[in-house]
Amino acid sequence: MRPLEIPLSGGRAGVAVRLRAMVVGEVALSTAMLERPSGRCGALRGRLQAVRRRGRTVVPVLSFLVAHPDAGYLLVDTGFLAVAGRRILGWPAMLVNGVRPGTPAVDQLAALGIAATEIRTIVLTHLHWDHAGAAADFPVAQVLLDAREHADGERGGGLFRGYGLLRPDPARVRTVDYTAAEPYGPFTRTIDLFGDGSVRLLSTAGHTPGHQSVLLRLDGREALLTGDAAYHRGVIESGTLPLIAADSQNFRDSLAEIAAYTAANPDALVVPGHDPETVGGSRAW
Ligand SMILES: [Zn+2]
Repeated sequence: MRPLEIPLSGGRAGVAVRLRAMVVGEVALSTAMLERPSGRCGALRGRLQAVRRRGRTVVPVLSFLVAHPDAGYLLVDTGFLAVAGRRILGWPAMLVNGVRPGTPAVDQLAALGIAATEIRTIVLTHLHWDHAGAAADFPVAQVLLDAREHADGERGGGLFRGYGLLRPDPARVRTVDYTAAEPYGPFTRTIDLFGDGSVRLLSTAGHTPGHQSVLLRLDGREALLTGDAAYHRGVIESGTLPLIAADSQNFRDSLAEIAAYTAANPDALVVPGHDPETVGGSRAW
């Protein structure tokens, strides 16, 4: 593990990136996972509903390919490995989620003529197994993680926090320090990855201790990849807590920044973490 040194090479003022969303599988989530029951014991009732597999919704698991004209390819999240099983995911994940593996990101990229070794950088929004589990498919990529997320993954009991067993190789992790990060629009802590404004990392802690989102400059508009700071579009409007929020206040603060961004940028492409309405199949922008 080493700290990330910014900017990454290859930045050029004014460039736009291209974005491809890849659906790499699906999970059937209890409705209580997506929106925590209200009331004083909502979290407890939600966990019971999840374990009993009440009211399930099938949602996509996503990995994003970002193509920078000079710096090359990077991935935002990886999805999970096709060999998903209890040993890989950790039994709590298997208990509450119906897992339906699809075509892994590495195979979808190969079909596009992009080798795994061409992915030099992976941004992980967070360490949950359905976002971070396939990082090992990209053997030369550096893995960018909020320093707080990395630290949380290193302490014991990660399986019970949804991290699974397949975590990024610490030797390839580059930790992102948001303590001296700059504001951008409504986002209070952002990192300009290439120094050209094309890819910004946003601290959106709350779902996990070091959750991060990504803001991209596409040709003609911006794209916000929220990760699990917002599972689906409705949450941005309602502000409803999901079942899993490591810090409820941080989650609400991050969601408020995302809501302020979407209100101020109605033309922006906003892609929540698991929204079948926004990304029901693999597509490019
Ligand atoms: Zn998550």
